Amino acid sequence: MKLLLLGPPASGKGTQASKIAEYLGIPHISTGDIFRENISMKTELGKIVKSYLDNGELVPDEIVTRVVVDKLDKGDYRKGFILDGFPRTIPQAKSFQRNYEFDQVIYIEVDDETVMKRISGRRVCPNCGAVYNVYFNPPRYKGRCDICSQQLITRKDDNPEAAKKRLREYKEKTEPLVEFYDKQNLLRRVNGLKPPEEVFDDIISIINPTTH
Ligand code: AMP
Repeated sequence: MKLLLLGPPASGKGTQASKIAEYLGIPHISTGDIFRENISMKTELGKIVKSYLDNGELVPDEIVTRVVVDKLDKGDYRKGFILDGFPRTIPQAKSFQRNYEFDQVIYIEVDDETVMKRISGRRVCPNCGAVYNVYFNPPRYKGRCDICSQQLITRKDDNPEAAKKRLREYKEKTEPLVEFYDKQNLLRRVNGLKPPEEVFDDIISIINPTTH
């Protein structure tokens, strides 16, 4: 199963992708996570992409596409993969299509107001990666991770200026992918305003209709 999860920032792509990956037993590839890891390890790639992430701008197409295609070419993805956060532009989708194809594209729909509220409330654990939201899913003890007690942090690109820019970039460059994949009859829509467990069930019933 080769899947793409598409949706605005903070639509729940990352959360859903890791749950689906576990459920289907296939790898989850998040370009955002790859970049953040490289930034924290101060690799060459990390140094190149840092300012784009900090400012909420998209990393240039050639860089992202090379990272993803290299990863897919080198790894064992015979059972498939879930891509979360790539492609994010029409040129990325076209380059990707020269080598790979998706079986399905899941579009998680969330309105702009909810996106901004989710971004401003998001807190992450720098140690174990758990994600919370002060409005929708607060930790048990304020500012502390439920799992490892680490002090939670706000992602640098979750500040209001970068968040607005990410939403603008999304509308301008990523949203056209909805029509692009719809025309190929690959697009399936889910309502991202539902609780995460329901969104997960909806996605599973789309990709695996016989079990639901
Ligand atoms: P995410 O964690 O998916 O929200 O991605 C965080 C940031 O990584 C984005 O705001 C971009 O700066 C960068 N990024 C991730 N995936 C892509 C992509 N496919 N194209 C361009 N930039 C990307």
